[in-house]
Amino acid sequence: MVMLIDGKQIAADIQEELRVKTEELNAKCIFPCLAVIQVGDDPASTVYVRNKKKACEKIGIKSLSYELPEETTEEELLSLIDELNGRSDVDGILVQLPVPAHISEEKIIMSIDPAKDVDGFNPENTGKLLAGSKCFESCTPAGVIQLLKRSGIELDGKECVVVGRSNNVGKPMALLMLQENATVTICHSHTKDLPEICRRADILICAIGKPKFFDRSYIKEGAAVIDVGIHRLEGKKLCGDVDRDDVMDLVSAITPVPGGVGPMTVTMLMFNCVKAAEMHAGLL
Ligand code: NAP
Repeated sequence: MVMLIDGKQIAADIQEELRVKTEELNAKCIFPCLAVIQVGDDPASTVYVRNKKKACEKIGIKSLSYELPEETTEEELLSLIDELNGRSDVDGILVQLPVPAHISEEKIIMSIDPAKDVDGFNPENTGKLLAGSKCFESCTPAGVIQLLKRSGIELDGKECVVVGRSNNVGKPMALLMLQENATVTICHSHTKDLPEICRRADILICAIGKPKFFDRSYIKEGAAVIDVGIHRLEGKKLCGDVDRDDVMDLVSAITPVPGGVGPMTVTMLMFNCVKAAEMHAGLL
């Protein structure tokens, strides 16, 4: 019997835990607060920002919203971040990516105070992740770890293959699995014999951004498969990087798209905001 890993339910459980924790913090006069900055009006970014603000509301995290015009200069954005870095009532700062081409994404990420970098993208946080120190973990891979743990899928000693090596998904994913004592292989577009390597995996993480790329030739019988990809097909139907219908009789567990990894990303952002508030209050 295949386990469909219910990201929606697991995200709802974590959000409820965070709501209770936020209530407890409020009782101690600690009010977690996230500043959300969007530059321009890219429709996908607008949806992501709206979902983040909704999640804040549900949990009781205060959100400050900065919707800046497309023509905003890099200096103006850096100056806003600088102001938010200095505000003691702001625990987390999120700049919705991508930013317009005239603004350096790297400069923006570097300018956010690492103690408020709830996306976990600042090199201070990624460096700490590499060193195995306490840090803000990148939200999507942190969400995948929660999905696996809360579904009772053991990582210790398992053969894990991560396909994709981006800074926000593949690389931190591999490091987090390593921290859980898995044996980790990272693959990318230059990897030779990809199906053969993937067929070694007890846990296969698919994060390449290609719709329905992974068919049964990539899957070992009994593997758990985490589908990070998300694509809108013609007719508006969503699908992942995995050809789910083709692999379903081989896998032991799989995340659906939608309703798998997606709801976890915003949830782990909320987790990081509450953690930031606890850190700033000296509780962690
Ligand atoms: P990305 O920055 O485009 O990285 C894609 C990675 O996949 C690269 O490392 C690339 O290799 C590798 N790749 C591409 N084609 C490949 C192939 N044919 N064989 C092997 N490797 C291949 O993408 P990303 O930001 O990591 O995101 C990946 C997917 O996850 C996208 O569909 C994105 O929308 C989705 N995503 C979902 C969530 C969520 O919340 N559900 C969050 C983030 C991302 P090279 O490095 O060699 O180019």
